[in-house]
Amino acid sequence: MSQTTETIFSKIIQREIPAEIVYEDDLALAFKDINPQAPIHILVIPKKPIPQLAEAESEDRDLLGHLLLTAKHVAEQAGLQEKGYRIVINTGPDGGQTVFHLHLHILGGRQMTWPPG
Ligand code: AMP
Repeated sequence: MSQTTETIFSKIIQREIPAEIVYEDDLALAFKDINPQAPIHILVIPKKPIPQLAEAESEDRDLLGHLLLTAKHVAEQAGLQEKGYRIVINTGPDGGQTVFHLHLHILGGRQMTWPPG
């Protein structure tokens, strides 16, 4: 289920709409979630417009690894290293995905519960 590559996140990458950007490099961008579900809620996205994890290809292997390490770096930058945090990737309708540009949620600053809703 491929969507258009133009999303609210591609507009953030292009600086067409504002966001609280906390990290950027050649391949990735991280910014604060506009509707935080935890005291710290940051999104990490690739600059490449992969709509969802289900559409990632083997050629994206290095990029996917980079996104995980970027999430680790950004979590440390946010002071979450000691107490921990949760990384979430919602994929497709049943996964609860609403923006079809791949993104990792970093959630921290409170005790997470399981199972998720
Ligand atoms: P998901 O439901 O996994 O697709 O997550 C999409 C996330 O994007 C939600 O947590 C939204 O709050 C967040 N979001 C939507 N629009 C913006 C925006 N303009 N700036 C920052 N976060 C946003």
